Order: sequence, then structure tokens, then C-alpha cells
Amino acid sequence: VSAEPAARRSKRTTSLQHRELELRRDIAEAYFNATSPIEVYRLALARVTPLIAASFSSVFLRDAAEPDLLRMVCAHSWPQASARFLGQLRIRVGRGPTGRAVAEGKPIEVRDVFADVSLRDWWEPARELGFASLIALPLQAGNGRIGALSFYYERAHEFSDDERNLLSVIAQQLSITAGRANETERLEIANRELRAQVETLTTQVGESEEMQRLKTEFLSNISHELRTPLTSILGYSYLLLDGQHGGLNPPQALALRKIEDSANVLLQLINDLLMLTELKLGRSEVVVIPEDAVLIARRAAEKAQPSAQVRFSMEAADVRVPIQTDVEKVLCILENLLSNAFKFTKQGEVVLSVRRLGFGEQQRIEWTVRDTGIGIPHSELPTIFDEFRQVDGSSTRLYGGTGLGLSLCLHLTRALGGEILVDSEEGRGSVFTLRLPATYPGASRFTF
Ligand code: ADP
Repeated sequence: VSAEPAARRSKRTTSLQHRELELRRDIAEAYFNATSPIEVYRLALARVTPLIAASFSSVFLRDAAEPDLLRMVCAHSWPQASARFLGQLRIRVGRGPTGRAVAEGKPIEVRDVFADVSLRDWWEPARELGFASLIALPLQAGNGRIGALSFYYERAHEFSDDERNLLSVIAQQLSITAGRANETERLEIANRELRAQVETLTTQVGESEEMQRLKTEFLSNISHELRTPLTSILGYSYLLLDGQHGGLNPPQALALRKIEDSANVLLQLINDLLMLTELKLGRSEVVVIPEDAVLIARRAAEKAQPSAQVRFSMEAADVRVPIQTDVEKVLCILENLLSNAFKFTKQGEVVLSVRRLGFGEQQRIEWTVRDTGIGIPHSELPTIFDEFRQVDGSSTRLYGGTGLGLSLCLHLTRALGGEILVDSEEGRGSVFTLRLPATYPGASRFTF
């Protein structure tokens, strides 16, 4: 064996290898820049066809509606005369070299169509299109064969191993690219759908928030409007009961007292509703003053109504527990918690305790209201702070109330940058815990 042919062979191989590498790089680049797989096929055909000295080429893919048929999706240098038929061209999977490449999953080579009588059916189209030889390579994506890549020669052509290798590498890379591009396309479609859904949802949330705001605004306005006539009902009841319009007989006085009591209940409800709506609309001002948390607890307890069967006691680890917060709001929370504790406890005790937690900037103050009352079922605990929520209908009849107290407590606590927790056991009692930062964290306004 002389040295010269070997050197020539190695030179040719090197240059093909080089071109193969270049091609692979270009296809990979096309994949990254392409917006659809067709663009990548088009580039591959345009680059590979001249490289292997083929006359023209095409990519056939399975038809989405009829997967047994292959449809041409792109072509390179396809003969002008038949170019207008391209869109209608269909090849059945398994038929002809291209159909067989898809069916069998391997390259199909035809050196000379006219030399093979089994391809007699293809003689006429081959003559019309002007090819005598072709090679078809299957395109694989995922687990399935999605189509084929076909290169055509005007004259009979003997395929070299170098050509075969190059084409199989290209077909492989195109398959991967097609698979990824399909995936990318699917993801992009899914992404677009998701984005549209997010937009719709955002609009809906916005609308719903706006409706909530309008509802709260309406409640706030109506509460204001209700307060005025109620004030006159209470005012005139007082004047009558005071005898300022003459004496009353006992039934009249009793009836008037009932009117006054009911009007007071209504006023409380309206005031609670007003406070709640103002908090929800972010219109409630936080007025911060330095105070003693033990003193706040004592002031809240003054309003409590203990009975003979229910003992009340206070516990505080320190004599003084300094805090800087909105005292009126804390009082409102504690009074509500104590009022509930007494309302739902027929016997036993109610204990209000105060302590500080942590140090420095992290320091928090904790008040707990513990009772030995009817308790709250575990299933009800997550919803107990919702507006107008009462454990059951009978609780309203038995204990009265509106179901606004705890909701108000929750919104007040949030306005003060704190948290409110509940722990309870049905039939044993409940513990409500209020924790607030020792120093109100918002933009504070001190009033001394
Ligand atoms: P209201 O007391 O006006 O009904 P709240 O919002 O203050 O409204 O309380 C909601 C519900 O939570 C009450 O109706 C009651 O069922 C339950 N609840 C609250 N506090 C207690 C408690 N200390 N013990 C038992 N149940 C309670």
C-alpha cells in the first residue's frame, strides 16, 4: 500500500469532518435562534444539499391529522415545474424510499431508481422531477419517528461511507433539534396560555378587590348614616326616662328601657362595624403613646363583668411592663377577649396575664385571656376570626353577640403589627393570646 492514497484519504476525511463539525455547530446555532423547527430544517437542507452535491432535498413530516401520511414541510432547490404541487404532496408511511425510511427507522438508499423494477411506480414522478437517485433518513423525536430527510440526485449516485456518516450525523442532530424545538414550541404555547390565564386572573382579582373595597366603603357609609338617627332615639329615650316630658307609669318606663337597651346594642354593633371597615380601608390612625402593659390590662378588666360563679384574676410577672403602642386599640382587643371569656364561661375562672417576651428590638408583650368556659371545637378554630362567624346558630341565641368581636380584634392586632392566637378544647376552655411589639414598628406618632 503506497503512502499517497492513505494521505489523500485522511485529508479528505479531515476536511469532511471539519465541514461536519461546522454544520453541527450551525444547526445548533440555528436551533437557538429559530422560532420554529422548520427554520432549522430549512437551514440544514440549504447547507447539506450542496455539500454532498445533491440536486435538491426535502423534509417530510407526519400529518398531524393523519399520522400515516407524510407531508412535505420544506424543500431546497426543488424543481420549479413541480414546486406548486409541494403543498399537496403526500407519501404514505411504508411506501417508497422516504415512506420506508420512516416505517423502518433506518436510512434508505436508492442508487438508481430506474435500475430497480420494484420502484417502477416511482419512475414517472422521478422522471418528471428529474432525479435518478436518492437517500432518505428517518427523523426521530422522543420515542417516535416524526418524518424523514431526503436528498435527491439527477443521476445515479453511489453513496460513500463518508457521505453516509455525515448524513446520519446530520439526521441525528436534526432529530434532537426537532424534538427540542417541538418541546420548546409546546412550552411556549403552554407559557402563552399560562400568561393569558394569569392576566385574566389578575384582572379578576383586581375586580374582586375593588368589589370588596366598594362593599366595605358602602358598609362604612351606611354605618355613619345609621348612627345619626340612632343617636336621636337614644337621646329622646333618655329625656323621656329622665321625666323631662312628664312622668311615666311603670309599663311605659319598662318599654322605654327596652328601647334604650336595644338601641345601645345596635349602637355597639354599628360602632364595631364602623371601626372594622375603617381598619380594612386602612383609614384607622395609629396613635402611639408610652404606657404600662399591666395598667392597660387593669383598665380592660375594669369593664369586665365577673359573676358569683366565675372568679377573675390577673397575673403579671413584673410590676411594670413598658410598651409603646396605640393604647385605645389594645384596650378594645382585651375588652373584647374578656367579654367573650365571661360570656362563654358559666363557672370556673377567667385569668388575664401579662408578660414580656424576648429582648431589645425583638421584645414583644404578651397578654393572655384564659377561661374555663364551653371551649371551641377544633374544626371551628380556623374560621373563628372571620366576620359574623359564630360557632353555631344556637350560640347566638344562648349567648348573644354579633360575630364581629374577634374579626375586629384580628384587624386591630394587624394594625399594631402583632398577632393573635387561639387555643381551645371543647368543654374545657379557651386561651386567646395577643402579642404586640414592645415598640410599635410603623411610622410612629407620639402623643404625650
Ligand atoms: P360574638 O362573641 O359577638 O359572637 P366574636 O367574633 O367575638 O363574636 O366570636 C365569634 C365566636 O367565637 C363566638 O360566637 C363563639 O362561638 C366563639 N368564641 C369566641 N370566644 C370564645 C370563648 N372564649 N369561648 C368559647 N367560644 C368563643
